[in-house]
Amino acid sequence: MCKNYHLLTEEQKIVKRQKSREYYYAHREQKIEYQRKQYWKDPTKAIAAAVQHGKDHPEMKKARQHRYAITHRAKLNADWHKRRSRIKFNGGYHTSAEWQEVLDKYNNTCIYCGTRIKMTKDHRIPINRGGTNDISNIVPACLSCNSTKRDNIWEPNCRILVAV
Ligand SMILES: [Zn+2]
Repeated sequence: MCKNYHLLTEEQKIVKRQKSREYYYAHREQKIEYQRKQYWKDPTKAIAAAVQHGKDHPEMKKARQHRYAITHRAKLNADWHKRRSRIKFNGGYHTSAEWQEVLDKYNNTCIYCGTRIKMTKDHRIPINRGGTNDISNIVPACLSCNSTKRDNIWEPNCRILVAV
């Protein structure tokens, strides 16, 4: 985006946006390939930049998530059911009281990064790797760590991979 973007009139902005959109779609593959390369050069930096971008533009993030939810509704639904049946298959069970005990034990703190906001249930050994839903496999993790971790196993306190 050009530096003097804010000096343009509304019509000019619309034209400019349209042009950059066309450019983007014409060069989409190269751009994605480039981004992928940049990511693998330094994944930590790329993730940090993406997180920062999300913080700087919450409305863009929200709109993107909304678009994704609409276009991928069937997939999300299927994923949810797949996960439910996986949990059932792996076995294990815990009550909300037990979860509360775990939260107390860890002092409402994310075991990976130490933050105390938005605690979620994390399966230490992920469901997709045969982890059970038993309370012994449940630890508190912040939303950020939990979603970044995905199906990996992390070392507590440092967001370091134990196993991929
Ligand atoms: Zn965390």
